[in-house]
This record gives sequence, structure tokens and C-alpha cells, in this order.
Amino acid sequence: MDIHDGHALTRVINAAGSFTPLGVSRSSPAVAAAAAEALQAFFVMDELQDAASAASVRLTGAQAGAVVHCAAAGITLSIAAAMAGGSAQAVAALPDATGLPARVVLPAGHAVDYGHPIVQDIRLAGATPVLAGTDAGCAIAEIEAALADEAAACLLLVSSRLVRGAPVDLGEAVAAAHRRGVPAIIDGAAQDMRIGALLATGADLVVISAQKYLASPTAGLVIGRADLVRAVRAHEKGIGRAMKASKEAICGVLAAIGEREALDMAEWRGVQDEKVAGFVAKANGLAGIDARAVPDPAGMPFARVHLRIDPAAAGRDALAVADGLKTGSPSIRVMEHGLDAGEVILELVGLREDEVAAILTGLEGLAG
Ligand SMILES: *Cc1c(COP(=O)(O)O)cnc(C)c1O
Repeated sequence: MDIHDGHALTRVINAAGSFTPLGVSRSSPAVAAAAAEALQAFFVMDELQDAASAASVRLTGAQAGAVVHCAAAGITLSIAAAMAGGSAQAVAALPDATGLPARVVLPAGHAVDYGHPIVQDIRLAGATPVLAGTDAGCAIAEIEAALADEAAACLLLVSSRLVRGAPVDLGEAVAAAHRRGVPAIIDGAAQDMRIGALLATGADLVVISAQKYLASPTAGLVIGRADLVRAVRAHEKGIGRAMKASKEAICGVLAAIGEREALDMAEWRGVQDEKVAGFVAKANGLAGIDARAVPDPAGMPFARVHLRIDPAAAGRDALAVADGLKTGSPSIRVMEHGLDAGEVILELVGLREDEVAAILTGLEGLAG
């Protein structure tokens, strides 16, 4: 009996992307084996962190890296590091930030909610979020002005569906922070395949969700300046105690980084493109469905499938199609942000061939 049967759990096909409420991603057998092996062994945890740092350096060319519980933890601990360094006194005192620089500036449109408000990650470190500009946009000069007054850090996000307003040029924002002598931290949670570009902005730290496209056990990777990464690790003896990486997570991350290093990116892209193109061709054969491939909006190297539903021809609208897929067995979950506009959006990256076929069968039963 497997876990789903043993606990009467819903079988899910997650076509909604690296979506946390649906179990995020699917690890490879080698990553799963590494995590399982780690669970049955003891380690000097500092050595595991050193190995993860070395692997991060190999993968990205950055100075250092550390593993924490997740990207949210990575944001909080990066801010703690920027505020307090690794001073034992401050590590013990946080989130009481008395006497420390505690303003963290972010463009107003970057104050997103990815399942909870990101400003909470700032407050957890004892810092105060300061929003620059408005939801419509934020000029570099507005960031620079907000950073003038005892700022601890500048927090930036990669443009995505979550981010509001005109795009902020990350390289220019990082340069503005550096003119004020303030470290810049980029939340690149779902952007691990673009980490080189994010580090190339000059950011002092980049935070990645390792369980998203790297498909490791749940873990956050904080990669960048060696002194700040050291300080992130120092906070494990402070607020980071509740945000620590487990041995199985670090060993899974090591295995996942090893796989990423060995990955033939061109071949991987080819496989993804073929999967999407095959799906689009078959979906276009269904009544009332106009399917097309659309590049990932945040610049990751794969496409999503957009299905425009013509309610007259399909017999139901996009909301009803998504609902029909969800209530089927297995339950097929799609991205929900396009439904009101008449589009069912799917991401196929983590899915097996049989799951992709099951989605097409589900659509066939609903359309026409
Ligand atoms: C997923 C996500 C996070 C949180 O990642 P966790 O690893 O689940 O904490 C933070 N920021 C953004 C933009 C995300 O997409």
C-alpha cells in the first residue's frame, strides 16, 4: 500500500507549477535516495553545510552558499545577516533590533503575497519594511532615497505574476543600494535556472527555493557574498534555530545540485519544448479549445500551455473546465490566475508522460 492509499489521500496531478500547497515538485530517484540515506546516518552538520557551500560555488561561481529551511527562511536570515552580521550578541538578541539598522527597503510592487506576505519575512528578523514608490512603479531614485536613512538592506524580487507595477531594473536597483553602502538581496525563489543572471546584477545575496525547479527536499539556498553567508549560518544559533536545514534536506540539495551540474540544458529544453508542443497539438484537436505555448513569464527556460476556452463550442467556460479537472480522479490542478479571463494555464515541467496523457483525457471528457 502506498502513502496515498494508506492515508486515504487525494491523488493529484500538479499542472499548477512549483506550487507549495500541492507538494511543489517531484524529486528524482537519486535525490530521494540521498535524502533517505541521510535519514539513516549521523553527520557533523557544519561539514554538510561546508559541502553545500562548495557545491553552490561550483554551480554558480558565487563566493559561498548556505542551506536553510526554505526560501522564506532564507529571506529572513539574509536580512538578519545584513542587519547584525554574525555578532554573537546580536544573534542572541534578534528579533530585538535595538541599536541595529533595521529598515529594509523594497519597491512597493515587490511586497508580494506568495502564500503569506513577504513583508512578514522582514518583520520576523526584527526589521521594518519600508515601501519605495507605489504599486504602479518605483523609480531607482525612490529606492535610493528610501535607503538613505539607516537602511539595513534592499530586498528585490524577480518580475513575475506576483510582482505589481512597471518592472524595476534589478542591476540598477542593486547599484543604487551599493551607492548607499547597503547590501541588496534578491528573492529568486523559483528562479534557480537563472541564478547566474541574478548574481550578475551584483546582488550580495540571492535566495532560491531548492524544492522548486531544483526538486530537492524542502530547502532554501542563500548564495552570494562569503561574509554575509557566514553571518546567515551564524544566525542558526539565534532566530534561525526555527529555520534550520535538516540533514536529509542538505544531502538532497547536494544530490540535486550534482544532477543540475550534469544536466545537458539544451537537451532538457528540447524535452520540455517537445512535451509542450505535443500537448498543444492534441489540445487543439478538442472542441472549443484554442491551445498555445507561452514562454514562462519570469524568464525560466520553458513554456507553459495556455488553453483559451470558447464556452459556446466547449459547452463550459474556463472555470468549469478547471473545476471538472479538479474533481476528477486523479485530481488535476491547473494555474488559476487565467480562469476569469477565459484561460486554463498549465505547467508540465514536473509531469510524467502518463500524467500529461491523463490531462488530455480529462480535457477530452469536458470539452465539446
Ligand atoms: C515560493 C516563493 C517563496 C517561498 O519559498 P519557500 O521555499 O516555500 O519558503 C518566496 N518568494 C517567492 C517569489 C516564491 O515564489
